[in-house]
Amino acid sequence: MGRLEGKSVIITGAASGIGRAAALLFAAEGAKLIAVDRAEAVHDTAEQARQQGGTAQAMIADAGSEDDVKAMIAKAIASHGRLDALWANAGISGGLLPLAEQSVEHWQDVLRINLIGPFLAIKHAMPHMIAQGAGALLCTASVAGLKAGASGHPYAASKAGVISLVQTTAYSLSGTGVRINAICPGLIETGMTKPVFDGARARGTEHKIGQLNPLKRAGQPRELATMGLFLLSDEASYVNGQAIAVDGGLSAS
Ligand code: NAD
Repeated sequence: MGRLEGKSVIITGAASGIGRAAALLFAAEGAKLIAVDRAEAVHDTAEQARQQGGTAQAMIADAGSEDDVKAMIAKAIASHGRLDALWANAGISGGLLPLAEQSVEHWQDVLRINLIGPFLAIKHAMPHMIAQGAGALLCTASVAGLKAGASGHPYAASKAGVISLVQTTAYSLSGTGVRINAICPGLIETGMTKPVFDGARARGTEHKIGQLNPLKRAGQPRELATMGLFLLSDEASYVNGQAIAVDGGLSAS
């Protein structure tokens, strides 16, 4: 019996990195999955999940568009009659422009996907979960939202916003039976951080990646997926309103 056996689950940002690892793990754990991304590669994720024996459908959608988010929730309800868990994971880094060169449009682009996206997912998933009297929501924040670091300004602000959104929503979901948490990855080797790893490999400085981390290495997507699995499963039934760092100890050091 899988830890998400028979549960109707949505993951956004499932074409790559953390979302893809989570989609494959969740399908292997018995979830009935809707894997969402704006990239076509999400079809490969769903296909691989099915080849492993899982139940998965892919959907192309923009996680920052209210119409697309409504359609994504509607697909889960139409396919599986309910929505047990949703992981709002899609995000962009927005790069590392100096503050003086950042435009309002740049900020709006990062905030639309990283912060308004999770807001929309919560907004449209919540009514179904409240009606069921149960459900689990998860948003991907970042250690950049917990403490100062080398991330871009709108990225860090968006992720601090996600943590605040999650805490406030946990409070407002009081008495509904619906839980919500945030996960805060440290440096993880994914599509988003590929330039960092590729650049270090090209310079022969790969060994320096993670030097400041107590575990002396970057994390892998599956190490986030396993925490997501726990938080969205009934095993985390008393974990609510938390921002949980999965960063090798970086934020504690
Ligand atoms: P990734 O680039 O490998 O995956 C992100 C996925 O999100 C991609 O498939 C992309 O197409 C999708 N996406 C982006 N914008 C979208 C949109 N508007 N609609 C639908 N899909 C969209 O990166 P990742 O590292 O796996 O990122 C997953 C999450 O983890 C993000 O929220 C990111 O901010 C967060 N995070 C990553 C790291 C890291 O070091 N990799 C650290 C902290 C937080």
